[in-house]
Amino acid sequence: MSIEQAELLLQKFYGYATFRPGQRKIIQSILAGHNTMGIMPTGGGKSICYQIPALMFPGITIVISPLISLMKDQVDGLNQLGISATYINSTLQPHEIDQRIEALRSGEVKLLYIAPERLESERFQAIFETLPIYLVTIDEAHCISTWGHDFRPSYRSMAERLLTLPRRPLITALTATATVDVRDDIANLLQISPKHIFSTKLERDNLSFFVYRDGQKREFIKQYLRDHPGQTGILYCSTRKEVDQLHRYLQEEGFPVAKYHAGMSDQERNRAQEAFSYDRIQTIIATNAFGMGIDKSNVRFVIHYNLPRNLECYYQEAGRAGRDGDRSECILLFSPKDIETQKYLIDHSEMTPERKTLELSKLRCMVDYCFTDECYQQAFIRYFGNNHPYTCGTCGNCRKKLGEAEDRTIDAQKIFSCIKRMNERFGFTVVSKVLRGSKNKRILSWGLDRLSTYGIMKDQTEKEIIQLCHQLVSNHYLTLDLSHPSVPVAKLTPLAIDVLKGSRRVLLHREETRTPTVELSRGSLLFEELKALRKSISEREQLPPYIIFQDSTLKEMC
Ligand code: ADP
Ligand code: MG
Repeated sequence: MSIEQAELLLQKFYGYATFRPGQRKIIQSILAGHNTMGIMPTGGGKSICYQIPALMFPGITIVISPLISLMKDQVDGLNQLGISATYINSTLQPHEIDQRIEALRSGEVKLLYIAPERLESERFQAIFETLPIYLVTIDEAHCISTWGHDFRPSYRSMAERLLTLPRRPLITALTATATVDVRDDIANLLQISPKHIFSTKLERDNLSFFVYRDGQKREFIKQYLRDHPGQTGILYCSTRKEVDQLHRYLQEEGFPVAKYHAGMSDQERNRAQEAFSYDRIQTIIATNAFGMGIDKSNVRFVIHYNLPRNLECYYQEAGRAGRDGDRSECILLFSPKDIETQKYLIDHSEMTPERKTLELSKLRCMVDYCFTDECYQQAFIRYFGNNHPYTCGTCGNCRKKLGEAEDRTIDAQKIFSCIKRMNERFGFTVVSKVLRGSKNKRILSWGLDRLSTYGIMKDQTEKEIIQLCHQLVSNHYLTLDLSHPSVPVAKLTPLAIDVLKGSRRVLLHREETRTPTVELSRGSLLFEELKALRKSISEREQLPPYIIFQDSTLKEMC
């Protein structure tokens, strides 16, 4: 079984000329009979890593997949390519399950998709032990680890059960996001040697990341949708209520938008997902229930309306943009209130105290990301435990550095001295009110109007002052203390003290408040039209799209 044979199958069944470099290494390792782990970003092409070996191995390949709702699509997709695959889940009648097991036993079907819970059924376990299973692939393998962001107990118990089978199958674990802890945990449990762990680069050259902190979220979204007509995108909110509200608001404002969350009926959700998949609607507003495994290649933007729980979740959700390799944007709209929401959710969850501490530290990293001044993709790379230097050149931070810096020392000194006089006990809203000389009742009742810094920044708006405070966090002059029960509290760093003493100047790049509009060129408009045409032909003729013509050919035609 050689990689050359594997590549012939790739050409024959999928119509792709070569493996991507990451795929090649993973497949070689699996074919050589090693338990293997592959870490590849969303859209990197993980499925092919186990589907091709499945075609080459004698016996059956079992695929553990987290969502029943996706199995049918995955299996239909394979059948369309001419690969015999099936799934067994709770949507089937007992006689259908029996038929499928027979087809597996007879060798007619090579790939079986199941959810991890299936292995908890004793009846299924008994059958499982008699099937000629050669390879077990665990998709979304980070669900195995209690350190991961999507831990599922059934994933872990399934993995433990696999190791006790009388004839132990070869195991492959695949995931898009794994910190070093999660990686080690999975490797220990599944007995994967470090030599057989392959991770491809995390960075996605075609994605541009941005963070906006100016608080005008609804205005931002409306402007963005107006600036990007006809482009497909996802708006993520952290709660169902928030999805409903934003959805209603945008509809009232005349934008065609769909919504998706776990509080809707199956039928409503399917309708929304289909409308989005088939490009009948361009924008979908959703909770994180939407998306694990969405296989839509032309998502041009992913906007997070609320702060995600941690960087693993963020990277995975934002990574749904631009799977086709075209330039796409991932935007996070930050507001300090969202930190409170996430803290509340962690505090009121059923997690153990240690786990809560861990989640809070991850939330801290998420907030730090919102204030970093380095390339946003470099921040991911570091968080996921890699250390190579990288600058994308197109994210909000990389772009900012292209402009000229302004001297903001005087304003910074005013802010620092105000924070210091208030004994570093307040958040930015109170700081900005004091600096503006607000007559707000609480400010007066706390006696903050007696401070010498009261009213010394009257010429600026509250929004401008808060924005400058945020920039000072980004540039390491201030930090946010999240341990306070309500709002994050501003603290000075030693750099700020230097500024107060006059031994350091504050040079800042101007903050942008809008993403630069990327105009679709005539060529790419034509490309989109041709892709739509290809899609309608492929639906009518029931053929996979690349059989009609490949993306590269399309691009040449434009
Ligand atoms: P993942 O599971 O890693 O998110 P998928 O397996 O769904 O990614 O693959 C993403 C896309 O990349 C799919 O459209 C797939 O057909 C395509 N793809 C995979 N491997 C190759 C390859 N070697 N050449 C070109 N396209 C590929
Ligand atoms: Mg996948």
